[in-house]
Amino acid sequence: MTTTIERVEVILTQPGHVRLAIVKVTTSEPGLYGLGCATFTQRIHAVAAAVERHLAPFLIGRDVARIEDTWQQAMVHGYWRNGPVLNNAISGVDQALWDIKGKQAGMPVHDLLGGKCRQGAHVYVHADGPTPADVADSVQGYIDQGFRYVRIQLGGYGGTALSVPEPKGAPDGAYFDPASYRRDTLEMMEHVRHHVGAEIELVHDVHERLTPSDAVTFAKDVEAFRLFFLEDLLAPEDLEWFERVRSQTSTPLAMGELFNHPLEWRTVTERRLVDFLRMHVSQMGGITPARKVADLAHSFGLRTAWHGPSDTSPVGHAANLHLDLWSPAFGVQEWYQPSALDYEMFPGLPVVEDGYLYGNDKPGLGIDIDEELAAAHPVRDVVEQWTQARLPDGSPVRP
Ligand code: MG
Repeated sequence: MTTTIERVEVILTQPGHVRLAIVKVTTSEPGLYGLGCATFTQRIHAVAAAVERHLAPFLIGRDVARIEDTWQQAMVHGYWRNGPVLNNAISGVDQALWDIKGKQAGMPVHDLLGGKCRQGAHVYVHADGPTPADVADSVQGYIDQGFRYVRIQLGGYGGTALSVPEPKGAPDGAYFDPASYRRDTLEMMEHVRHHVGAEIELVHDVHERLTPSDAVTFAKDVEAFRLFFLEDLLAPEDLEWFERVRSQTSTPLAMGELFNHPLEWRTVTERRLVDFLRMHVSQMGGITPARKVADLAHSFGLRTAWHGPSDTSPVGHAANLHLDLWSPAFGVQEWYQPSALDYEMFPGLPVVEDGYLYGNDKPGLGIDIDEELAAAHPVRDVVEQWTQARLPDGSPVRP
């Protein structure tokens, strides 16, 4: 007998500083349900409405087995397609259907994809601090815990000090000075490399905050520090500039957390403009498109480094890990440091040991949610400040 979708709901919760959206798909088979990550934290209520008001009526009664068919139809069901709200909504459903298929098969999702290529996934964690010495201390602390990959940032995204005064009457905002960022970050990298040695793999995230020509220079300047990769050197709007970066430096490049259209990842892959694709798996529409991208990356010699900070939910981290364990194109996995409450609310959340991320090999995604505990931590709406970024003269700039 066909197992069908009976209910599609969104669980909004906030165990820490990030609002999370989890989709729960309940089936016609008693006790069988799946979970998926739909976390677009800055527009969480829009995603919830997209799932519950627009996707759910179209999904109820469908065969849970038909993941690909459902994904293809969900993407064009509203005729106009893509975009972060719809992609995240579809991801929540898609990951839940993979979870359900795994539970039905008695297999973890990585087995459905083709089985493990590795036993654990290398992760990188975030080190930052107000001074180069603080960053180096933080990196050394991670090395002592067994981590082999660390992202290094000065003062969060870097360059907190302004090199020129703001004009009178400048509006409030998260001020960012590209000139001091470049100078201070290079000084920080030199200090960190000198103090922690050559073995540790270092990553840095530019967060697309430089003009394209400054970005070319910066990528050349950091070559000396042998980064594992330099992330988001350019904005998605400036992809053509990667040609110029590529022609001038061997610094490995990673890109993709803001991508939400297939043309974006296809362009950088087929022209080999970057080394690592690091899309946010829910932002690209879930496991169904991500596994295709992993295969595309592999055929062009690129590797994956799926986006994995705290605004990926624990369910999303579990999905990332299944892709990581299976794909031959896996490079490294970004990892946040979950709280005790995260582990309590999401039983089965992957764990790190000696710098490797491990899952539990249970059927499906291997992760669950304590819905009572989730309800006890409701989302708190705020007006985001860090995305209201400004240059020293007060003009708006991409965050
Ligand atoms: Mg990033």
